[in-house]
Amino acid sequence: MKTFQEFGLEPKILRAITEMGFEESTPIQEKTIPLAMEGRDLIGQAQTGTGKTAAFGIPLVNKINITEERISALIMCPTRELAIQVAEEIEKLGRFKGIRSLPIYGGQDIVKQIRALKKKPQIIIGTPGRLLDHINRKTIKLDDVKTVILDEADEMLDMGFMEDIQSILSLVPEERHTMLFSATMPANIQKLAQQFLSNPEHVSVIPKQVSAPLIDQAYIELHEKQKFEALSRLIDMEAPDLAIIFGRTKRRVDELAEALQKRGYAAEGLHGDLSQNQRDNVMRKFRDGSIDVLVATDVAARGLDVSGVTHVINFDLPQDPESYVHRIGRTGRAGKEGTAWTFVTPREIDHLHFIEKVTRHRINKKPLPSLAEAIEGKQKMTAERILDVMQNETHAEFKGLAIQMLEQYDSVNLLAAAMKLLTGEKKAVEIELTPEEPIRARKKKFDVRSSGRRVGGGYGSGDRRNDRQGGYGGNTGSRYPRKDGGREYGSRDGGEGRSSSNRTREYGNSGNRDRSRTPRKSEETLVNK
Ligand code: ADP
Ligand code: MG
Repeated sequence: MKTFQEFGLEPKILRAITEMGFEESTPIQEKTIPLAMEGRDLIGQAQTGTGKTAAFGIPLVNKINITEERISALIMCPTRELAIQVAEEIEKLGRFKGIRSLPIYGGQDIVKQIRALKKKPQIIIGTPGRLLDHINRKTIKLDDVKTVILDEADEMLDMGFMEDIQSILSLVPEERHTMLFSATMPANIQKLAQQFLSNPEHVSVIPKQVSAPLIDQAYIELHEKQKFEALSRLIDMEAPDLAIIFGRTKRRVDELAEALQKRGYAAEGLHGDLSQNQRDNVMRKFRDGSIDVLVATDVAARGLDVSGVTHVINFDLPQDPESYVHRIGRTGRAGKEGTAWTFVTPREIDHLHFIEKVTRHRINKKPLPSLAEAIEGKQKMTAERILDVMQNETHAEFKGLAIQMLEQYDSVNLLAAAMKLLTGEKKAVEIELTPEEPIRARKKKFDVRSSGRRVGGGYGSGDRRNDRQGGYGGNTGSRYPRKDGGREYGSRDGGEGRSSSNRTREYGNSGNRDRSRTPRKSEETLVNK
């Protein structure tokens, strides 16, 4: 890997990179930075967590002219959270150079944004919907934009931003430098690239295995009713530093977070219905460790960059292999080890095997954690805490009393009692969750328009294997083409053509995006409607 000194960057940028703690470039950065510095249009493809932000951010801040008072670069991101994350990274990269950048996203007070725009930022990082609002109000002008970056382009198209992106890009001068980044390259991304990039270089870093090898993956077969008990035992047994638990719907997330709190766990829920303040609060608590269990929907957790997640638990099996990979990818980041557990009901076993096949990774079956294992896990945790305090913290002020107590009582009994106190007893509250439908492969359906043959789910519907192929491989809008053996597991049929007037979908309603892809019954937005 190259060090950042080798790219010929300005000293102020190098200093910022050093302060950020980056020692050498990641593969996507090594390939992208030189091309971007030459001004080449490019398509960058690499998994989440590979450093794509700095791959475009570094050459961008390097070339921005600091005396410029008009917007000279535009970065588009799918969600508010990602826009904020990217903006933070750009801010850090550009701080010694004194670059002005501003995130612009839906939900935030527009008047406040207009005021911030008056400070003449050179770089705008925005979500498409809100950007268009500003463009229409003429509070953002794109006439001087020289660089455009589409970040997480696949996510943006999934969320139905195709039209908005097209409208925005048509307003940027054609003489410009355009870069597109995406974890996957479905056909609609290629179409977008063809339309708006000129002779782009394709830069990709595709891992051999779809899912990270550092993640230890296991599943537990159980019944819906056993899930909560299994979850609390698993948490006790594994004593995660930070865990993300995935539930299928918003209701599920709310119920689970509440149930965990009732049992005495430091847990919070995260989903698209929360206000932005609530979301920010939850994320802050998770990052600073004041909660150690985050319960989330796929949509809410996607793209979040949280380091130090030791465990991912799929309380509900995800619908598709791609979500599975995204979910478990929240752990095992930056070369650290992670553990992913998945709960599977008997009727979902076939679906799990399908996920294994597409991700080309075996998921090991483990037994339900027993009560004894859970207790042992908790006790071990307490013992570790005690030893940690003994070795690393001052505790002299307790020694006098300790000696007195030891003179009167048996040492084993004393320590056992202290451990019991520290471990805390699980609150014996009854927990009742609303059951979720099991995930099943979709029935084969032929659309009259595309096949001209038949409608409905009759064909092969008695044969589960056949069903699955129909659902994932066969008909129009196929999402997992057979021939590529699963590498393009993320190819999707996109979410174009949805109304672009609904601005709230940028955040509060982000669950919508999945609906365009998979008409599944228990999707979070549907449940809440
Ligand atoms: P992506 O957009 O590919 O999902 P990010 O740009 O969000 O990934 O980067 C993931 C994490 O890696 C961030 O916390 C980022 O600060 C960090 N990172 C990026 N580049 C480097 C590097 N060269 N060395 C160390 N950490 C890096
Ligand atoms: Mg990114």
